[in-house]
Amino acid sequence: MEPRDGFRDECGVFGIADCEDAANIAYLGLYALQHRGQESAGIATLSEGRIVVEREMGYVADVFDEARLSRLPGRTAIGHVRYSTAGGSHLANAQPIVFATGRGPLALAHNGNLVNAREIRAKLEASGALFTTTSDSEVILHLVARSKAPDLPTALAEALLEVRGAYSILVLARDGIFAARDPNGIRPLSLGTREGSPVVASETCAFDLIGAKFERDVEPGEIVRLSREGLSARRFAIANSTPCIFEHVYFARPDSKVFGRSVAATREAFGARLAREHPADADVVVPVPDSGMYAALGYARESRIPFALGMVRNHYVGRTFIEPKHSIRHFGVKVKLNPVREVVEGKRIVLVDDSIVRGTTSRKIIRMLREAGVGEVHMRVSSPPTVASCHYGIDTPTRQELIGASQSVEEIRRFIDADSLGYLSADGMLEAFGRPMQATCTACFTGRYPVEVPEEELEKEGAISR
Ligand code: SF4
Repeated sequence: MEPRDGFRDECGVFGIADCEDAANIAYLGLYALQHRGQESAGIATLSEGRIVVEREMGYVADVFDEARLSRLPGRTAIGHVRYSTAGGSHLANAQPIVFATGRGPLALAHNGNLVNAREIRAKLEASGALFTTTSDSEVILHLVARSKAPDLPTALAEALLEVRGAYSILVLARDGIFAARDPNGIRPLSLGTREGSPVVASETCAFDLIGAKFERDVEPGEIVRLSREGLSARRFAIANSTPCIFEHVYFARPDSKVFGRSVAATREAFGARLAREHPADADVVVPVPDSGMYAALGYARESRIPFALGMVRNHYVGRTFIEPKHSIRHFGVKVKLNPVREVVEGKRIVLVDDSIVRGTTSRKIIRMLREAGVGEVHMRVSSPPTVASCHYGIDTPTRQELIGASQSVEEIRRFIDADSLGYLSADGMLEAFGRPMQATCTACFTGRYPVEVPEEELEKEGAISR
């Protein structure tokens, strides 16, 4: 099998307090967040002081049926969809993770990645702690369980001050759900209300599905309690906000509002800026579906070149798809994408995608387009070259595998066989995003990590050499 080409989504979290059929609502919320993680799904509910959990490997719709949801009683629920970025891909690492502690049972759902989890875990293990998973998230529960603080919010605050990295977490406890975001606010987390019940989700598209109203984001460095009494907040750290720009480039759903901005509008702004930076003499603007769609719209509007759907994505390709024995040229890409010959034949096209990671997918797409009779292919990318790995909860190829880390734009153009190639500049991307470099995580494009990453982690990725 060929190595994967691309960044992969991480995790999504959802919670609702004091609501009839909480597990059913959590199921719908997770359904809307499915794009953030497809390996496992889980829901934990609070019922008569106990926590009940159901977790399984697979898609939300496959993991939960009516019978399973009926085994999740209670009016408060948290849920999680996972793609493993730290720890292996197996059921023991599926979330929510449930723990019995001196403060009662706790369940945790985490989106992000802790850069010092290994170090904390080693210390805890040396003092006798027994871990049940290989996931980084579990250290948070251990730290909470061991804290001598008088109440849970203080214990949680103490634990969060020890960990470093990216975390948007939900902790389900007897007195409600505690939602918290790291001081850099790298991953999103939004608050809303549904018929008087407080809700929290990684993205606002989950609110739209359940008929909830967006209220505000959980602030970086803030813990918010969701309960029958509504929302109450406290700050545990000074905010130093550096949200992940890749959420807007690729991860988040375009119908979500993330970090206070519409994802669709940001992507269109990236595309418009790209058209100004890298104009092309062409007949049509064609997106690579679905990720390049909004940037291509922005490019087309700004350049006044007509927009055309010159490729179709097959949305029904499952994870378990088996490649046939008889080799078919470009099979891996062909099963997902197919050119519309009538749209592209003989045309000079501007092909817009959100990123080029290893370059192998772009190369195959362009070859397919050429086989379909395209005239010229002017590849435009709505983000800068990816030059470094993510350590904050996104699964990325190693630095050595990132074509942008070792090849010039001209070398990449030759590799993918485009007639011309243009990337959005980092300055252009930040201007369209509306935030300066020091207030944004752009590490995969610039190698500047806003939260220090331990040297041994960087060395593993080849980001530094000795
Ligand atoms: Fe996002 Fe890239 Fe920063 Fe990771 S390194 S948080 S993907 S901007």
